[in-house]
Amino acid sequence: MPRYDYRCRSCGDTFELSRPMAESAAPAVCPEGHEDTVKLLSTVAVGGMAKGAPAPSGGGGGGCCGGGCCG
Ligand SMILES: [Zn+2]
Repeated sequence: MPRYDYRCRSCGDTFELSRPMAESAAPAVCPEGHEDTVKLLSTVAVGGMAKGAPAPSGGGGGGCCGGGCCG
């Protein structure tokens, strides 16, 4: 049974649930009992991508960023 990651927007906790794919979109209640949760993208199919680190690598390829116009 696949596992899915969820994050609670009430307490900010993340948790995993094992549930059938048919129920992957069903509401999940966090371990603290909050119902305001969001489903996170599965990291299974994304090999080697660190979770929680959305760092767009500059690396000199950006047209705008790097020139100073992005702040
Ligand atoms: Zn919670």
